[in-house]
Amino acid sequence: MSNVNESGCNREGFELIDRLESEGKLNKNEFVRLLSLRDGSLMEYAAKKADALRRKYYDDKVFTRGLIEVSSYCKNDCLYCGLRRSSRDAQRYRLSDDEIMACCKEGYEMGYRTFVLQGGEDAFFTDEHVCSLVSSIKEKYPDCAVTLSIGEKERDSYQAYFDAGADRYLLRHETYDPEHYKKLHPKEMSRDHRIKCLYDLKEIGYQVGCGIMVGAPYQTFENIADDLLFMKEFKPHMVGIGPFIPAHDTPFASFKQGTLEETLFLLSIIRLLLPDVLLPATTALGTINPIGRELGFKAGANVVMPNLSPTSVRKKYAIYDNKICTEEGAGDCKGCLSGRVTNSGYRLVTERGDHITKTSGDS
Ligand code: SAH
Repeated sequence: MSNVNESGCNREGFELIDRLESEGKLNKNEFVRLLSLRDGSLMEYAAKKADALRRKYYDDKVFTRGLIEVSSYCKNDCLYCGLRRSSRDAQRYRLSDDEIMACCKEGYEMGYRTFVLQGGEDAFFTDEHVCSLVSSIKEKYPDCAVTLSIGEKERDSYQAYFDAGADRYLLRHETYDPEHYKKLHPKEMSRDHRIKCLYDLKEIGYQVGCGIMVGAPYQTFENIADDLLFMKEFKPHMVGIGPFIPAHDTPFASFKQGTLEETLFLLSIIRLLLPDVLLPATTALGTINPIGRELGFKAGANVVMPNLSPTSVRKKYAIYDNKICTEEGAGDCKGCLSGRVTNSGYRLVTERGDHITKTSGDS
């Protein structure tokens, strides 16, 4: 503990963390205050409590999800994303069904029991196509969970993927504040539609993940407080957060990246807010700091998403600059991550790792 605590300077911060822990929530002003009080001693205090909670629900396990980046084509024009349709620098590719099945095979042989298909919003992947892929994977690997992360769709499409066997869906809400949302997205996109998608997914029966970029352009503590209140209300099974990292050839190329400290502090806050949530230490966190993901586990994260994409396309899935793990193959990722998890004092597991409410059957 640092002197700040001993001298009582950050007593208010410690009290807010205590209350977040005991009541599982704070109000908007309190969240804003908590974020503004962040210092080393408060981060350490929050991380300790977050770690105790993750161990209570998920022990020392860090769950793995094999990530397959299926397409870098995107019809959207999100201002932060290196794969936005206006980016002329982006290298476009899409994986064939055979390539995707080969990634799953390799992942399965390494023990992975969750496959995440993520990609840009690529019209080539019609609903029929997605359904046929999902059912092929589920047929071949019935013991595995399939997670989709292919953006905003209409409810019927989500229903069709679910009926084909998809189990989970990741769709970061990006920011709850409609004005902030407008600053990050082209005018044809809206906060309301994104949030509607999340509720549709949940009603259909998916395990759902929302989330934000930490330090996104124009983000304020008030915005983050609104995001936390939304998370409390929505009760996602998963929350994906990582630092914003500028991507060249985008309008935000020269904006500042999100910080390690703010991301770690938010991981701990989210663990205290939603004690049994599945919370990844993201690749973006590992990109801004060589031991970012290790620090993420210690701050409350309990999921990691090793890349299963063919090495030949990894550099092309460039949502931000300098992304790590683009040179290695799937086997290297597993060895590397397993070492990182063990060194942090946790245990890498490959089991399906459903959210706790799904395994106890009361959804
Ligand atoms: N098309 C899908 C998948 C997008 S990639 C979708 O819209 O959901 C997954 C996440 O990467 C995005 O939700 C966003 O939060 C994050 N991301 C995109 N660009 C980023 C950047 N420049 N820095 C950090 N994270 C970024």
